[in-house]
Amino acid sequence: MRDQIERRKIRDLRLLEVFRRVPRHWFVPPALRDRAYDDGPLPLDEGSTISQPYIVAAMTFMLQLEGSETVLEVGTGSGYQAAILSQLTRTVHTIERNPRLAQRAARLLAALRFDNVFVHQGDGTLGWPDGAPYQAILVTAGAPKIPKPLIDQLDENGRLVIPVGGPREQNLERWRKSGGRIYREHFFPVAFVPLLGEFGWKEEE
Ligand code: SAH
Repeated sequence: MRDQIERRKIRDLRLLEVFRRVPRHWFVPPALRDRAYDDGPLPLDEGSTISQPYIVAAMTFMLQLEGSETVLEVGTGSGYQAAILSQLTRTVHTIERNPRLAQRAARLLAALRFDNVFVHQGDGTLGWPDGAPYQAILVTAGAPKIPKPLIDQLDENGRLVIPVGGPREQNLERWRKSGGRIYREHFFPVAFVPLLGEFGWKEEE
């Protein structure tokens, strides 16, 4: 995995070390375990996927974590991205709308002793107000536009990384709050499952 990540110009030693430490094979379905370290995404349940390691690395890198942040992740899925984040910051709140996935991720993260990750079940387009403000927010599902509650829950100087675009293809964007204003940067195209919810795609779309 080091090669998958380094070759694409992410040379953050702390980040690479965390990828070596977090056991990705526990987060993929048992039948796919021998492909856990492949250079691609893998299916979870009910249309969800665990992202490609490089995409997890790139999005984590874009959050510019220094170690003291409270981070919100929207779209827990397997819990793998949350586990990676937990090693680079103080507290991670992660929210998943699918109850089965939320429950499974919560159990696994507890069993593996990722004690600074808090898994919640619900509509993450509303954020998770109880943990706010967040110095970093990561959305790992494709949004039609920025959910306003996430901007509201972002701290001053906070970073929000989110795929924005269509239900199948999006562009990675980073939003930053500074002096009461919001700045947006565009990155590369990605393909996430749709972000469904009040400030996301509606179920029937
Ligand atoms: N980060 C995950 C992969 C995310 S896949 C990992 O590391 O494995 C995207 C997930 O977002 C799916 O599990 C999907 O159920 C979830 N999702 C979609 N809309 C959501 C919403 N409004 N709130 C929370 N989770 C949502």
